[in-house]
Order: sequence, then structure tokens, then C-alpha cells
Amino acid sequence: MLDLTPSIIIEREALRINPCKTCQPVGALYAALGVHRCMPHSHGSQGCASYHRTFLSRHFKEPAIASTSSFTEGASVFGGGANIRTSVKNVFDIYKPDIIAVHTTCLSETIGDDMNAYIQDMEIPDGKYVVHANTPSYVGSHINGYFNMMSGFINYLSKKSGRSNGKAGIFPGFVNPGDMRELKRIAKLIGASIILFPDTSMVMDAPMTGNYSMYPKGGTGIPEIESLGDCNRVFALGELTSEEPANILLRKCGVAYTTLPLPLGIENTDLFLMKLSRWAKNEVPYELEEERGQLLDVILDSHFYLSDKSVAVFGDPDTVLGLTSLLLEMGMIPKYVITGTPGDAFKRKADALFKKYGRTDCKAKAPADLFELHQWIKNDSIDLLIGTSYGKQIAKAEDIPFVRAGFPILDRYVHSYFPMLGYAGALRLAEKITCALMDRQDRDAADEDLEAVM
Ligand code: SF4
Repeated sequence: MLDLTPSIIIEREALRINPCKTCQPVGALYAALGVHRCMPHSHGSQGCASYHRTFLSRHFKEPAIASTSSFTEGASVFGGGANIRTSVKNVFDIYKPDIIAVHTTCLSETIGDDMNAYIQDMEIPDGKYVVHANTPSYVGSHINGYFNMMSGFINYLSKKSGRSNGKAGIFPGFVNPGDMRELKRIAKLIGASIILFPDTSMVMDAPMTGNYSMYPKGGTGIPEIESLGDCNRVFALGELTSEEPANILLRKCGVAYTTLPLPLGIENTDLFLMKLSRWAKNEVPYELEEERGQLLDVILDSHFYLSDKSVAVFGDPDTVLGLTSLLLEMGMIPKYVITGTPGDAFKRKADALFKKYGRTDCKAKAPADLFELHQWIKNDSIDLLIGTSYGKQIAKAEDIPFVRAGFPILDRYVHSYFPMLGYAGALRLAEKITCALMDRQDRDAADEDLEAVM
């Protein structure tokens, strides 16, 4: 399908081909799904809401609920005030959420709808809430939408009572429910009392019970989001995703925060564990030390297949940086590292990682697209490609082993139940990476060289 991608690279500024990101409301919707009994609401046309819901449903293989202001030509000319007022009333009457989280779309942003004014003027039933975030899709990516929606919740709900709740807030970054579960497991093992916000576990990986529930058990509760203002500290995981909401909470409620890389890979997980255990004034338990030891053992055992293998990684900025760190720890060469989310910090951080491991043969770029990555590979190939489902055509065209990791993964099942974070997550990634390279070796082996024992 992509066999005809040309190898001659022409510098582009105003054109993206095969983008490595999606639009802001997708991230905003995902953040809102991580709040208990929340109805995400798309302030725009029905087409936008359908796209965002479908995108998330295809990744998680779960229904992603959302309502819409259903803009037509009238709203485009006169503004969406009447639409949002009617929508909010109908959604509270019919679907009975505790909170509606409104995100804007390209159309409502271009019209210039003043969501603050609309929400202040509307009638909201007692004990219910409406919050909003501006998520214009012509800037940033779904990552911006995710942290903008988090900031929206904090802006509207979090408050400082003056009495500490003795908890740490953890902002998990844009990760799967399996990762959120892993963060809670780690905090429990360390004995740290936390508020994880948002939390899509038991929402986007809720079990089959035989009865459909529009609002599954999971999600950060409204009282917990309010109580973020009384936390002792926030750990903002994924520096390029979680710093903005942490900063807003600091400004609003004075809660100090520590930004950390996503705990993806050995050193990043070590750092998170040390910070959290120091904050909780508890030792890191042996169970986690054991997992770390197992991970090291696995990497050492399989290093014959991993060492000096070159890899291209693409996806969301913090995920790609975490994967890059893990690859370097495994003795591999993250030759090409890209994200579609704009921002200078990504390249700075990737270059710092290359330098730390003495690699002069690796390059990073943001924003970049998959067309450009494919051209790099055409000019100088790699041993392995790691990223979202959108890499599969490149992998096929160039006949390269491919490991799916990150968001979105639209062509596989079960992935979102398992973590990439923590030692457990790195162990799983190490298995996937090693198996992909060993499968390739088997596939290429002549009959007489095909070994049962490797
Ligand atoms: S119009 Fe904008 S908000 Fe709607 S789907 Fe397209 S990019 Fe996303």
C-alpha cells in the first residue's frame, strides 16, 4: 500500500501526510471518561462526536459515551448558545449523569462561542455540575485536549479547604486503563494514599456483567477532584502531558507538584517509586524489588537478540520518550524517534537521552508525520518499528517487524488491559520486542537453520 512512498525528502512546513496524532476533543473525551458518572459533551456537529467516540471505541473495544450539541447551519451562523442550553437540560433529564464535561470543537471555536458565559447563564440542577475546556483542533493534538480537559475539571471543581487530606494526587498521563490500574497497585504496595486523576480503569475496561451500565464503577469521583486542592503534593507523570494541569492546581490551590517522566522503563520507574516512597515515608516493598530483578534478568537473558538492533518509535510524546529510555536500557538503538504533537521539549528530552547513552546515530523530531518517518526508513532502514496501528502499512511496505504500543491501537484486542508502565509493563514490552525479533529470525531462517531451541 505504501510501496510508492518516495525516498527523496522535501522539507514541508504547512502540510502533514499520514499524521501521527488526532484531534484535541478525542483526548478531552478520554479524560472526561475517567471521571465517575460523567457525560462527555461535544459542543459542535454530530459528525465530530461520532468520530471521537468511534476512535476511542475502536482502541478500547468498549463504548465511549458522549452527547453532542448537534450544530447545524443555524448554530454556525448564530452561535451554539441555544444548542448547549437545550443539550445540557436534555442530557441531565434523560441520561442522568452527575456531571457534564463540555469540550469545544473546531466549529464552535471558530464561531467564538463563550462557554464560560453560557455555563454561568444556564440552569444546572442542584448537586449537578457542568465544566468545560476549550479544545480547538487546529492547534496541538489529542494530548493537548486531554490536559486541557483535566485543567477544566480542576478549574471548576478543585478547592482548598485549608485542611490537608494527607494524600498525593497522581496525574497518570495519557495512558491505558491497564496503566492506571498499575499505578494504583504500585501506590498501594508502597502504602501511599493517592487520588488518581483521571482514572479510566473500570470504565474503559469494565467487565461484562450481563447488564449495560452507562456509568460503570470506575472513574475519579467529583469529591476526589474537589479534594485535589487539599493534597500534599501532586506527581505529574509524563512531563509533556501532566505539567499543565499540575500548574493550574498549584496556582489555584497552592498544591506543590513534581513532574516526572512516565514510569516507562527501568530508570523512569525507579524514579517514580523513589519519589512516591519518600513522600509516603515508606520503604519500597520487596515485591517491587523482585519485579525489577525479574525485568533485569529477562533483558540480560535476551540481549543476544536485542543488542544494537535499530528501532523507529512513534506516537505520543511522553510514551515515545519512555519507550526510547527503555530501548536504550535494553542496549538497542532508537534510531528514529518522532511524535505528531508539537513542542520543542520533546526533541530536547530525546536528544538528552541519546547523549546520556552516548548515541550519535539517533534523531528525534516534533512535530513529524509518518510519511517523513517512512522516508527516513527508506533511506536507511531499521530492524524494528514500534508505535500505533498506523505503522502497519510502513512495516508491511518495508518488511520490518512491528510492535504495537501506544495510542491508538485499532487492529488488535486486549492491549489496553495490560500496562506499559512500571516494571510489570516493561517486562511485557521486553517480551513483545524480543518475540518480534525472534519471530523474524525464525521466518528468515533456512529450513536447516530453524532451531526449536533459541
Ligand atoms: S472538525 Fe475539528 S473537532 Fe471535529 S473531528 Fe474534525 S478536527 Fe476534530
